[in-house]
Amino acid sequence: MACVSFPYDAPVSQTLFDRAALVTPGGVNSPVRAFRAVGGTPRFMVSGTGPYLTDADGREYVDLVCSWGPMILGHSHPDVIAAVQDAVARGTSFGTPGEGEVALAEEIVARVEPVEQVRLVSSGTEATMSAIRLARGFTGRAKIVKFAGCYHGHVDALLAAAGSGLATFGLPDTPGVTGAQAGDTIVLPYNDLEAVRAAFAAQPGEIACVITEASPGNMGVVPPLDGFNAGLKEICAANGALYISDEVMTGFRTSKAGWFGVDGVRPDLMTFGKVMGGGFPAAAFGGRADVMAHLAPVGPVYQAGTLSGNPVATAAGLAQLRLLDDAAYAKVDAVSAEIRGLVSQALDKEGVAHTVQAASNMFSVFFTDGPVRTYDDAKRQEAFRFTAFFHSMLAQGVYLPPSAFESWFVSTAHDSRAVERIAAALPAAARAASEATA
Ligand SMILES: *Cc1c(COP(=O)(O)O)cnc(C)c1O
Repeated sequence: MACVSFPYDAPVSQTLFDRAALVTPGGVNSPVRAFRAVGGTPRFMVSGTGPYLTDADGREYVDLVCSWGPMILGHSHPDVIAAVQDAVARGTSFGTPGEGEVALAEEIVARVEPVEQVRLVSSGTEATMSAIRLARGFTGRAKIVKFAGCYHGHVDALLAAAGSGLATFGLPDTPGVTGAQAGDTIVLPYNDLEAVRAAFAAQPGEIACVITEASPGNMGVVPPLDGFNAGLKEICAANGALYISDEVMTGFRTSKAGWFGVDGVRPDLMTFGKVMGGGFPAAAFGGRADVMAHLAPVGPVYQAGTLSGNPVATAAGLAQLRLLDDAAYAKVDAVSAEIRGLVSQALDKEGVAHTVQAASNMFSVFFTDGPVRTYDDAKRQEAFRFTAFFHSMLAQGVYLPPSAFESWFVSTAHDSRAVERIAAALPAAARAASEATA
Protein backbone atom coordinates (compact mmCIF):
# COMPACT_ATOMS: atom_id res chain seq x y z
CA MET A 1 0.00 0.00 0.00
CA ALA A 2 2.87 2.32 0.80
CA CYS A 3 3.85 2.38 -2.86
CA VAL A 4 0.52 3.61 -4.16
CA SER A 5 -0.13 7.32 -4.21
CA PHE A 6 -3.64 8.69 -4.10
CA PRO A 7 -4.21 11.76 -6.21
CA TYR A 8 -6.26 14.00 -3.92
CA ASP A 9 -9.06 14.27 -6.40
CA ALA A 10 -12.10 13.74 -4.23
CA PRO A 11 -12.21 16.83 -2.00
CA VAL A 12 -15.95 16.77 -1.36
CA SER A 13 -15.89 13.06 -0.50
CA GLN A 14 -12.92 13.70 1.78
CA THR A 15 -14.81 16.46 3.60
CA LEU A 16 -17.82 14.18 4.04
CA PHE A 17 -15.58 11.36 5.22
CA ASP A 18 -13.98 13.66 7.82
CA ARG A 19 -17.45 14.70 9.03
CA ALA A 20 -18.59 11.07 9.11
CA ALA A 21 -15.57 9.95 11.12
CA LEU A 22 -16.58 12.29 13.95
CA VAL A 23 -19.98 10.69 14.41
CA THR A 24 -19.59 7.14 13.09
CA PRO A 25 -16.78 4.65 13.80
CA GLY A 26 -14.40 4.81 10.86
CA GLY A 27 -16.85 7.06 9.04
CA VAL A 28 -18.87 4.19 7.60
CA ASN A 29 -21.83 1.97 8.39
CA SER A 30 -20.26 -1.19 6.95
CA PRO A 31 -16.48 -1.69 7.28
CA VAL A 32 -15.42 -2.48 3.70
CA ARG A 33 -16.79 0.89 2.52
CA ALA A 34 -13.98 2.67 4.38
CA PHE A 35 -11.35 1.64 1.76
CA ARG A 36 -9.01 0.43 4.52
CA ALA A 37 -7.80 -2.49 2.38
CA VAL A 38 -6.85 -0.25 -0.51
CA GLY A 39 -6.30 3.12 1.18
CA GLY A 40 -7.42 6.50 -0.09
CA THR A 41 -10.71 8.36 0.16
CA PRO A 42 -13.97 6.42 -0.03
CA ARG A 43 -16.19 7.96 -2.68
CA PHE A 44 -19.48 9.26 -1.32
CA MET A 45 -22.04 8.56 -4.01
CA VAL A 46 -24.94 10.89 -4.65
CA SER A 47 -26.79 9.23 -7.52
CA GLY A 48 -26.89 6.20 -9.77
CA THR A 49 -28.33 5.64 -13.24
CA GLY A 50 -28.02 2.39 -15.17
CA PRO A 51 -24.39 1.17 -14.90
CA TYR A 52 -23.11 4.51 -13.58
CA LEU A 53 -22.61 6.11 -10.18
CA THR A 54 -21.89 9.79 -9.59
CA ASP A 55 -19.90 10.86 -6.54
CA ALA A 56 -20.11 14.00 -4.44
CA ASP A 57 -17.33 15.57 -6.49
CA GLY A 58 -19.39 15.17 -9.65
CA ARG A 59 -17.31 12.34 -11.14
CA GLU A 60 -19.01 9.46 -12.91
CA TYR A 61 -17.94 5.82 -12.54
CA VAL A 62 -18.87 2.59 -14.27
CA ASP A 63 -20.13 0.61 -11.27
CA LEU A 64 -18.83 -2.94 -10.90
CA VAL A 65 -20.12 -3.31 -7.34
CA CYS A 66 -23.85 -2.82 -7.94
CA SER A 67 -24.44 -2.31 -4.21
CA TRP A 68 -22.68 -5.68 -3.63
CA GLY A 69 -25.10 -7.47 -5.90
CA PRO A 70 -28.64 -6.16 -5.48
CA MET A 71 -28.68 -3.75 -8.44
CA ILE A 72 -28.86 -6.43 -11.15
CA LEU A 73 -31.00 -4.15 -13.33
CA GLY A 74 -28.64 -1.22 -12.82
CA HIS A 75 -29.44 1.89 -10.82
CA SER A 76 -32.79 3.68 -10.90
CA HIS A 77 -34.51 1.20 -13.18
CA PRO A 78 -37.71 3.04 -14.17
CA ASP A 79 -40.05 0.11 -13.41
CA VAL A 80 -38.54 -0.42 -9.95
CA ILE A 81 -38.64 3.30 -9.16
CA ALA A 82 -42.28 3.46 -10.30
CA ALA A 83 -43.23 0.50 -8.08
CA VAL A 84 -41.51 2.14 -5.13
CA GLN A 85 -43.21 5.49 -5.73
CA ASP A 86 -46.55 3.78 -6.02
CA ALA A 87 -46.00 1.92 -2.74
CA VAL A 88 -44.65 4.95 -0.87
CA ALA A 89 -47.69 6.98 -1.85
CA ARG A 90 -49.84 4.49 0.06
CA GLY A 91 -47.81 4.63 3.28
CA THR A 92 -44.49 3.17 4.36
CA SER A 93 -45.19 0.66 7.13
CA PHE A 94 -48.30 -0.73 8.76
CA GLY A 95 -47.14 -3.47 11.12
CA THR A 96 -49.87 -5.67 9.68
CA PRO A 97 -49.89 -8.25 6.91
CA GLY A 98 -50.14 -6.83 3.39
CA GLU A 99 -50.59 -8.14 -0.14
CA GLY A 100 -47.11 -7.09 -1.30
CA GLU A 101 -45.38 -9.55 1.00
CA VAL A 102 -47.66 -12.36 -0.13
CA ALA A 103 -46.88 -11.60 -3.76
CA LEU A 104 -43.12 -11.53 -3.09
CA ALA A 105 -43.29 -14.82 -1.17
CA GLU A 106 -45.30 -16.36 -4.02
CA GLU A 107 -42.69 -15.19 -6.53
CA ILE A 108 -39.87 -16.78 -4.49
CA VAL A 109 -41.77 -20.05 -4.02
CA ALA A 110 -42.59 -20.15 -7.74
CA ARG A 111 -38.96 -19.59 -8.75
CA VAL A 112 -37.08 -21.79 -6.30
CA GLU A 113 -38.58 -25.24 -6.25
CA PRO A 114 -37.18 -26.43 -2.85
CA VAL A 115 -38.78 -23.42 -1.13
CA GLU A 116 -42.24 -24.56 -0.06
CA GLN A 117 -42.65 -21.82 2.52
CA VAL A 118 -40.72 -18.64 3.13
CA ARG A 119 -40.47 -16.03 5.90
CA LEU A 120 -39.45 -12.47 5.03
CA VAL A 121 -36.88 -10.56 7.09
CA SER A 122 -34.89 -7.36 6.55
CA SER A 123 -31.26 -8.47 6.07
CA GLY A 124 -29.22 -11.46 5.01
CA THR A 125 -27.80 -11.59 8.52
CA GLU A 126 -31.27 -12.03 9.98
CA ALA A 127 -32.04 -14.70 7.40
CA THR A 128 -29.03 -16.89 8.26
CA MET A 129 -29.40 -16.27 12.00
CA SER A 130 -33.03 -17.37 11.85
CA ALA A 131 -32.30 -20.38 9.63
CA ILE A 132 -29.67 -21.60 12.10
CA ARG A 133 -32.05 -21.13 15.03
CA LEU A 134 -34.74 -23.02 13.16
CA ALA A 135 -32.34 -25.86 12.29
CA ARG A 136 -31.35 -26.16 15.93
CA GLY A 137 -34.97 -26.03 17.06
CA PHE A 138 -36.03 -28.59 14.49
CA THR A 139 -33.26 -31.10 15.18
CA GLY A 140 -32.82 -30.46 18.90
CA ARG A 141 -29.05 -30.35 18.29
CA ALA A 142 -26.55 -27.57 19.06
CA LYS A 143 -23.57 -27.84 16.73
CA ILE A 144 -23.32 -26.30 13.28
CA VAL A 145 -20.79 -26.68 10.48
CA LYS A 146 -19.58 -23.76 8.36
CA PHE A 147 -16.68 -23.34 5.94
CA ALA A 148 -13.63 -21.11 6.19
CA GLY A 149 -14.03 -18.13 3.87
CA CYS A 150 -17.82 -18.37 3.71
CA TYR A 151 -19.58 -15.27 5.03
CA HIS A 152 -23.13 -15.51 6.31
CA GLY A 153 -23.59 -12.02 7.74
CA HIS A 154 -22.48 -10.86 11.18
CA VAL A 155 -24.27 -13.54 13.16
CA ASP A 156 -22.25 -14.25 16.32
CA ALA A 157 -22.04 -18.00 15.81
CA LEU A 158 -21.08 -17.54 12.15
CA LEU A 159 -18.25 -15.05 12.64
CA ALA A 160 -15.63 -17.74 12.71
CA ALA A 161 -13.23 -17.79 9.75
CA ALA A 162 -15.73 -15.74 7.75
CA GLY A 163 -14.78 -14.02 4.50
CA SER A 164 -15.91 -10.60 3.25
CA GLY A 165 -14.87 -7.73 5.53
CA LEU A 166 -13.11 -10.20 7.81
CA ALA A 167 -11.11 -11.60 4.91
CA THR A 168 -10.27 -8.05 3.96
CA PHE A 169 -8.93 -7.26 7.38
CA GLY A 170 -7.44 -10.65 8.08
CA LEU A 171 -9.12 -10.76 11.47
CA PRO A 172 -9.02 -14.33 12.75
CA ASP A 173 -12.16 -13.76 14.76
CA THR A 174 -13.91 -10.87 16.42
CA PRO A 175 -13.97 -9.68 20.02
CA GLY A 176 -17.49 -9.57 21.41
CA VAL A 177 -18.31 -13.09 20.30
CA THR A 178 -18.06 -15.32 23.34
CA GLY A 179 -16.70 -18.84 23.47
CA ALA A 180 -20.22 -20.01 24.22
CA GLN A 181 -21.59 -18.36 21.08
CA ALA A 182 -18.89 -19.70 18.78
CA GLY A 183 -18.14 -22.92 20.65
CA ASP A 184 -20.79 -24.92 18.81
CA THR A 185 -19.49 -23.77 15.42
CA ILE A 186 -17.26 -26.21 13.58
CA VAL A 187 -15.22 -24.50 10.85
CA LEU A 188 -14.00 -26.72 8.02
CA PRO A 189 -11.96 -26.08 4.86
CA TYR A 190 -14.12 -25.34 1.81
CA ASN A 191 -14.50 -27.95 -0.94
CA ASP A 192 -13.38 -30.75 1.40
CA LEU A 193 -16.04 -33.44 1.81
CA GLU A 194 -13.68 -35.71 3.75
CA ALA A 195 -13.44 -33.05 6.48
CA VAL A 196 -17.24 -32.93 6.65
CA ARG A 197 -17.51 -36.72 6.94
CA ALA A 198 -14.88 -36.71 9.67
CA ALA A 199 -16.73 -34.00 11.64
CA PHE A 200 -19.98 -35.98 11.56
CA ALA A 201 -18.17 -39.17 12.55
CA ALA A 202 -16.49 -37.43 15.49
CA GLN A 203 -19.74 -35.89 16.77
CA PRO A 204 -22.54 -38.35 16.07
CA GLY A 205 -26.03 -36.95 16.64
CA GLU A 206 -24.76 -33.51 17.63
CA ILE A 207 -24.68 -31.52 14.37
CA ALA A 208 -27.89 -29.63 13.57
CA CYS A 209 -26.91 -28.34 10.15
CA VAL A 210 -24.27 -27.55 7.59
CA ILE A 211 -24.47 -23.99 6.25
CA THR A 212 -22.59 -23.07 3.10
CA GLU A 213 -22.64 -20.31 0.54
CA ALA A 214 -24.34 -21.96 -2.46
CA SER A 215 -21.35 -20.76 -4.47
CA PRO A 216 -19.04 -18.64 -2.35
CA GLY A 217 -18.48 -15.01 -3.30
CA ASN A 218 -17.16 -13.58 -0.05
CA MET A 219 -13.55 -14.81 -0.33
CA GLY A 220 -13.63 -13.83 -3.97
CA VAL A 221 -15.56 -16.16 -6.25
CA VAL A 222 -14.73 -19.79 -5.40
CA PRO A 223 -17.33 -22.10 -6.94
CA PRO A 224 -17.99 -25.49 -5.36
CA LEU A 225 -16.18 -28.39 -7.00
CA ASP A 226 -18.40 -30.79 -8.94
CA GLY A 227 -20.31 -32.88 -6.43
CA PHE A 228 -19.43 -30.81 -3.36
CA ASN A 229 -22.91 -29.44 -2.66
CA ALA A 230 -24.50 -32.79 -3.56
CA GLY A 231 -22.08 -34.47 -1.16
CA LEU A 232 -23.02 -32.07 1.63
CA LYS A 233 -26.68 -32.78 1.05
CA GLU A 234 -26.06 -36.53 1.14
CA ILE A 235 -23.97 -36.40 4.33
CA CYS A 236 -26.56 -34.22 6.07
CA ALA A 237 -29.42 -36.50 5.05
CA ALA A 238 -27.53 -39.60 6.24
CA ASN A 239 -26.91 -37.97 9.64
CA GLY A 240 -30.26 -36.33 10.36
CA ALA A 241 -28.84 -32.81 9.90
CA LEU A 242 -30.21 -30.03 7.72
CA TYR A 243 -28.41 -28.71 4.64
CA ILE A 244 -28.69 -24.92 4.54
CA SER A 245 -27.75 -23.19 1.32
CA ASP A 246 -26.99 -19.50 1.82
CA GLU A 247 -28.12 -17.84 -1.40
CA VAL A 248 -28.09 -14.28 -0.08
CA MET A 249 -25.58 -13.39 -2.80
CA THR A 250 -26.34 -15.98 -5.50
CA GLY A 251 -30.15 -15.99 -5.10
CA PHE A 252 -31.91 -14.54 -8.17
CA ARG A 253 -28.47 -13.47 -9.45
CA THR A 254 -26.81 -16.59 -10.85
CA SER A 255 -30.07 -17.69 -12.54
CA LYS A 256 -33.84 -17.27 -12.15
CA ALA A 257 -33.63 -19.76 -9.30
CA GLY A 258 -30.18 -18.67 -8.11
CA TRP A 259 -27.49 -21.31 -7.62
CA PHE A 260 -30.16 -23.98 -7.14
CA GLY A 261 -31.06 -23.27 -10.76
CA VAL A 262 -27.44 -24.06 -11.69
CA ASP A 263 -26.61 -27.18 -9.68
CA GLY A 264 -30.06 -28.52 -8.79
CA VAL A 265 -29.03 -29.73 -5.32
CA ARG A 266 -32.10 -29.51 -3.09
CA PRO A 267 -31.41 -27.80 0.26
CA ASP A 268 -33.57 -28.26 3.35
CA LEU A 269 -33.41 -24.52 4.04
CA MET A 270 -32.24 -21.58 1.95
CA THR A 271 -31.51 -17.93 2.67
CA PHE A 272 -31.95 -14.95 0.35
CA GLY A 273 -31.27 -11.21 0.36
CA LYS A 274 -29.52 -8.72 -1.93
CA VAL A 275 -31.27 -9.06 -5.36
CA MET A 276 -34.69 -9.92 -3.86
CA GLY A 277 -34.86 -6.51 -2.14
CA GLY A 278 -34.39 -4.44 -5.30
CA GLY A 279 -32.05 -2.12 -3.36
CA PHE A 280 -34.17 -2.08 -0.20
CA PRO A 281 -33.70 -4.05 3.02
CA ALA A 282 -35.56 -7.26 2.26
CA ALA A 283 -34.32 -10.80 2.78
CA ALA A 284 -35.83 -14.21 3.44
CA PHE A 285 -35.32 -17.77 4.56
CA GLY A 286 -37.40 -20.72 3.49
CA GLY A 287 -37.47 -24.34 2.48
CA ARG A 288 -39.17 -27.55 3.54
CA ALA A 289 -42.70 -26.93 4.78
CA ASP A 290 -42.33 -29.46 7.63
CA VAL A 291 -39.26 -27.57 8.88
CA MET A 292 -40.80 -24.10 8.42
CA ALA A 293 -43.83 -25.33 10.41
CA HIS A 294 -41.62 -25.17 13.50
CA LEU A 295 -41.61 -21.36 13.29
CA ALA A 296 -43.86 -19.17 15.45
CA PRO A 297 -46.80 -18.69 15.39
CA VAL A 298 -47.35 -22.24 14.09
CA GLY A 299 -44.49 -23.81 15.99
CA PRO A 300 -42.29 -23.06 18.99
CA VAL A 301 -39.21 -21.45 17.32
CA TYR A 302 -39.51 -17.68 17.79
CA GLN A 303 -38.69 -15.26 15.00
CA ALA A 304 -40.12 -11.80 14.28
CA GLY A 305 -39.48 -8.33 12.82
CA THR A 306 -41.13 -4.90 13.07
CA LEU A 307 -40.31 -4.04 9.46
CA SER A 308 -40.37 -7.60 8.03
CA GLY A 309 -42.28 -7.65 4.73
CA ASN A 310 -42.18 -3.85 4.55
CA PRO A 311 -44.52 -2.66 1.77
CA VAL A 312 -41.96 -0.42 0.04
CA ALA A 313 -39.17 -3.02 0.16
CA THR A 314 -41.42 -5.82 -1.07
CA ALA A 315 -42.73 -3.63 -3.92
CA ALA A 316 -39.16 -2.92 -5.03
CA GLY A 317 -38.11 -6.56 -4.77
CA LEU A 318 -41.15 -7.85 -6.61
CA ALA A 319 -40.77 -5.30 -9.42
CA GLN A 320 -37.14 -6.29 -9.83
CA LEU A 321 -37.78 -10.06 -9.78
CA ARG A 322 -40.58 -9.73 -12.34
CA LEU A 323 -38.14 -8.13 -14.78
CA LEU A 324 -35.59 -10.90 -14.28
CA ASP A 325 -36.50 -13.38 -17.00
CA ASP A 326 -34.21 -15.72 -18.95
CA ALA A 327 -33.31 -12.96 -21.39
CA ALA A 328 -32.17 -10.70 -18.54
CA TYR A 329 -29.87 -13.40 -17.12
CA ALA A 330 -28.50 -14.17 -20.58
CA LYS A 331 -27.63 -10.48 -20.93
CA VAL A 332 -25.91 -10.23 -17.53
CA ASP A 333 -24.01 -13.49 -18.14
CA ALA A 334 -22.82 -12.25 -21.54
CA VAL A 335 -21.56 -8.88 -20.31
CA SER A 336 -19.84 -10.59 -17.38
CA ALA A 337 -18.04 -12.96 -19.77
CA GLU A 338 -17.00 -10.04 -21.95
CA ILE A 339 -15.55 -8.07 -19.03
CA ARG A 340 -13.78 -11.15 -17.64
CA GLY A 341 -12.14 -11.69 -21.01
CA LEU A 342 -10.99 -8.08 -21.21
CA VAL A 343 -9.52 -8.10 -17.70
CA SER A 344 -7.66 -11.34 -18.31
CA GLN A 345 -6.33 -10.13 -21.65
CA ALA A 346 -5.02 -6.88 -20.13
CA LEU A 347 -3.32 -8.68 -17.23
CA ASP A 348 -1.83 -11.31 -19.55
CA LYS A 349 -0.40 -8.58 -21.74
CA GLU A 350 1.47 -7.17 -18.74
CA GLY A 351 2.49 -10.61 -17.51
CA VAL A 352 0.57 -10.33 -14.24
CA ALA A 353 -0.17 -13.69 -12.60
CA HIS A 354 -3.92 -13.91 -12.07
CA THR A 355 -6.95 -16.18 -12.09
CA VAL A 356 -10.41 -15.04 -13.07
CA GLN A 357 -13.09 -17.26 -11.50
CA ALA A 358 -16.79 -17.04 -12.21
CA ALA A 359 -20.06 -18.45 -10.97
CA SER A 360 -22.54 -17.55 -13.72
CA ASN A 361 -22.21 -13.75 -13.89
CA MET A 362 -20.50 -13.31 -10.50
CA PHE A 363 -16.74 -13.17 -10.89
CA SER A 364 -13.54 -12.04 -9.26
CA VAL A 365 -9.89 -11.66 -10.14
CA PHE A 366 -7.32 -13.31 -7.89
CA PHE A 367 -3.79 -11.99 -8.27
CA THR A 368 -2.25 -15.45 -8.14
CA ASP A 369 -2.04 -18.53 -10.33
CA GLY A 370 -5.12 -20.71 -9.92
CA PRO A 371 -7.17 -22.57 -9.34
CA VAL A 372 -8.45 -21.05 -6.09
CA ARG A 373 -10.49 -23.68 -4.27
CA THR A 374 -10.21 -22.71 -0.61
CA TYR A 375 -9.83 -19.65 1.58
CA ASP A 376 -6.14 -20.52 2.05
CA ASP A 377 -5.69 -20.49 -1.74
CA ALA A 378 -7.43 -17.09 -1.93
CA LYS A 379 -5.17 -15.63 0.75
CA ARG A 380 -2.08 -16.57 -1.26
CA GLN A 381 -2.83 -13.85 -3.83
CA GLU A 382 -0.70 -10.72 -4.15
CA ALA A 383 -3.29 -8.30 -2.82
CA PHE A 384 -0.87 -5.36 -3.24
CA ARG A 385 -1.25 -5.76 -7.00
CA PHE A 386 -5.01 -5.48 -6.64
CA THR A 387 -4.54 -2.25 -4.68
CA ALA A 388 -2.60 -0.66 -7.53
CA PHE A 389 -5.06 -2.02 -10.08
CA PHE A 390 -8.03 -0.74 -8.07
CA HIS A 391 -6.70 2.81 -7.76
CA SER A 392 -5.83 3.05 -11.42
CA MET A 393 -9.34 1.92 -12.38
CA LEU A 394 -10.88 4.33 -9.86
CA ALA A 395 -8.85 7.26 -11.20
CA GLN A 396 -10.09 6.35 -14.69
CA GLY A 397 -13.74 6.21 -13.62
CA VAL A 398 -14.32 2.50 -12.97
CA TYR A 399 -15.58 1.57 -9.52
CA LEU A 400 -14.40 -1.88 -8.36
CA PRO A 401 -15.03 -3.49 -4.97
CA PRO A 402 -12.40 -1.95 -2.65
CA SER A 403 -10.97 -5.34 -1.67
CA ALA A 404 -9.29 -8.25 -3.44
CA PHE A 405 -11.61 -10.68 -1.63
CA GLU A 406 -14.94 -9.65 -3.10
CA SER A 407 -17.03 -10.58 -6.10
CA TRP A 408 -17.49 -8.03 -8.90
CA PHE A 409 -21.06 -7.50 -10.06
CA VAL A 410 -22.60 -6.42 -13.34
CA SER A 411 -26.17 -5.68 -14.43
CA THR A 412 -28.48 -5.70 -17.43
CA ALA A 413 -27.66 -1.99 -17.75
CA HIS A 414 -23.96 -2.60 -18.48
CA ASP A 415 -24.08 -1.82 -22.20
CA SER A 416 -21.35 -1.52 -24.83
CA ARG A 417 -20.56 2.07 -23.81
CA ALA A 418 -19.91 0.98 -20.21
CA VAL A 419 -17.82 -1.97 -21.41
CA GLU A 420 -15.78 0.32 -23.66
CA ARG A 421 -15.00 2.55 -20.72
CA ILE A 422 -13.81 -0.44 -18.73
CA ALA A 423 -11.73 -1.66 -21.69
CA ALA A 424 -10.12 1.76 -22.05
CA ALA A 425 -9.09 1.81 -18.38
CA LEU A 426 -7.64 -1.70 -18.25
CA PRO A 427 -4.23 -1.30 -19.93
CA ALA A 428 -3.01 1.34 -17.47
CA ALA A 429 -4.47 -0.57 -14.50
CA ALA A 430 -2.78 -3.79 -15.60
CA ARG A 431 0.50 -1.91 -15.94
CA ALA A 432 0.05 -0.48 -12.45
CA ALA A 433 -0.56 -4.00 -11.14
CA SER A 434 2.56 -5.32 -12.83
CA GLU A 435 4.71 -2.49 -11.47
CA ALA A 436 3.33 -2.68 -7.92
CA THR A 437 5.60 -3.84 -5.12
CA ALA A 438 4.61 -5.36 -1.80
C1 LIG B 1 -24.27 -10.31 2.03
C2 LIG B 1 -24.35 -11.70 2.56
C3 LIG B 1 -24.94 -11.99 3.80
C4 LIG B 1 -25.37 -10.90 4.77
O1 LIG B 1 -26.41 -10.12 4.27
P1 LIG B 1 -26.66 -8.68 4.92
O2 LIG B 1 -27.89 -8.20 4.23
O3 LIG B 1 -25.44 -7.86 4.63
O4 LIG B 1 -26.86 -8.89 6.39
C5 LIG B 1 -25.10 -13.31 4.18
N1 LIG B 1 -24.69 -14.31 3.38
C6 LIG B 1 -24.09 -14.08 2.18
C7 LIG B 1 -23.68 -15.23 1.34
C8 LIG B 1 -23.90 -12.77 1.75
O5 LIG B 1 -23.28 -12.55 0.58
